[in-house]
Amino acid sequence: MTAYWCEWAWLGGDSATAAVLVRVDGDRIASVHSGAPPPADATVLSGLTLPGLANVHSHAFHRALRGRTQREPGGRPGSFWTWRERMYALAGRLTPETYLPLATAALAEMALAGVTAVGEFHYLHHGPDGRPYADPNEMGRVLLAAAAEAGVRITLLDTCYLHGGVDRPAEGVQRRFSDGSAGAWAERVEGLADGPSVRVGAAAHSVRAVDPASIAAIAAYAAGRDMPCHVHLSEQPAENADCLARYGTTPTALLDRAGALTARTTAVHATHLSAGDRALLAASGASVCLCPTTERDLADGIGPAAALRDAGVALSLGSDSHAVVDLLEEARAVELDERLATGARGHFGAAELLRAATEAGARALGWDAGRIAAGRLADLSTVDIGGVRLAGAGPEHLLDAVVFAGTAADVTHTVLGGEPVVVGGGHRRVGDVAAALRAAIAAVS
Ligand SMILES: [Zn+2]
Repeated sequence: MTAYWCEWAWLGGDSATAAVLVRVDGDRIASVHSGAPPPADATVLSGLTLPGLANVHSHAFHRALRGRTQREPGGRPGSFWTWRERMYALAGRLTPETYLPLATAALAEMALAGVTAVGEFHYLHHGPDGRPYADPNEMGRVLLAAAAEAGVRITLLDTCYLHGGVDRPAEGVQRRFSDGSAGAWAERVEGLADGPSVRVGAAAHSVRAVDPASIAAIAAYAAGRDMPCHVHLSEQPAENADCLARYGTTPTALLDRAGALTARTTAVHATHLSAGDRALLAASGASVCLCPTTERDLADGIGPAAALRDAGVALSLGSDSHAVVDLLEEARAVELDERLATGARGHFGAAELLRAATEAGARALGWDAGRIAAGRLADLSTVDIGGVRLAGAGPEHLLDAVVFAGTAADVTHTVLGGEPVVVGGGHRRVGDVAAALRAAIAAVS
C-alpha cells in the first residue's frame, strides 16, 4: 500500500486541513486521516494537495496555435476568423505521425499544471481527403497513446461532425471531421473500448455541425452505453441566430427536443443563453463546462455562470483552445469575469471554484475521482505555497490564496491512480516537456 502525507489538503470543505495522510490501495484511496506527523513509509507532499484537476474540454492539437492567432500577417489584430482559419489549416496538415508527439506534449503540459483527467473533444478523425485511415480510429488511438505517455486519464469524447453549417455540407478540411452520418459515426465508435485510464464518450460538435435527427441518434447511442455526452452550445451569437432562423428555436431547446439534455450531458461554453435555456439545462440535470480563457481569447463573451449555478446547474472547467493551460486561472476567471460583468464581488467562493475544477469535472468525464476521500480514484495535485506568488498566505486563507493567486507553475506534484506522474515540477516520463512542445509544434508549423 502506498501512502502520501500532505502538509495541507483540501478535503471538500471551506478550508484546508493540516497533516493529512492518504493511503492508497491499487489505484484508489483506501483511507484519509489527519493530525499526525508523517509515518516513515509515506511520501511527503509539501504545500496544498488538491484532488487531481479535471480539464473537461480540450482540443489537444490547438496547442500548436498558442500565440499565433493574435494578429493577421499584415499586423492588424486577429479576429475569431483569424483563429478559425489557422486552426483549419493546422487540422489539414496533421498526420498520425505528427499528432502523436504534439498531443503527448500538450497533455504532458496539462499534467505539469496538475491535470489528472482530460476530456478530449476529438473530431479530427480521417485522412486529408476525408477518407478513413486503415484503422478508422487511428487518430483517436493517437490521443489514447498520448494520454498514457503523459500520465493523464482521458475521456475520449468522440465527436460527430457532419455539416459545415446549418444545411451546408462539410467541405475542405471539414471532410476530415465527418463520418457522413450518425450511423457511420456510431459504427466507428464501436471500435473503441474503455480501459483503466480511458473512457469512451460521445459528442455532437454543435447544432451547426450536426442536424437534429443526428443529434437524437448520438444521444440515444450515449444513453444506451451510459456514456458521457458533450456538445458545444451557444458559444457565439451567430450560432443562436442560425438555429433560430432554421429551426425556430434556440440551440438549447433544440437539444432538449432531440433528447440530448440529460444528466450525462455536458454543454460546453453555454455563453449566450436565455432564461428559458437555463431552466431547460437545470431541469434536465445537464452540466455546463465553462472555458473562460478561451472565451476571453476569442471574444466570445462571458457565460452566465452565477445564474446557471443559482438554477442548480453543475459547472466544470476546460482549457479548450489552450490559449493557456492553467485550471486555477480558469477557476478564478469564473468569479472574476462575473465581477467585471456585474460590478460586484462574492459570487463564487474558492471551495466552490475548486469543486468545479475537480469533482464536477471528474463527474462530467465519467470518473469516480475529484475528491480526497476513501473509495475515490487516487488522483492528486499538489500546489507549492512557498513560492513568491503564495508565500505569506495564512492557513485560514490558503484556499483563497491558491485559487485567486496560484498558477499552473506552482504545481509541483501530480499523482494518478496512486502513481507519481509529476515530481518536484518535473514530468517523470516525458522529461523536458518544453522541448517536446517546441519540437512537436515546429514539425506542424
Ligand atoms: Zn471546443
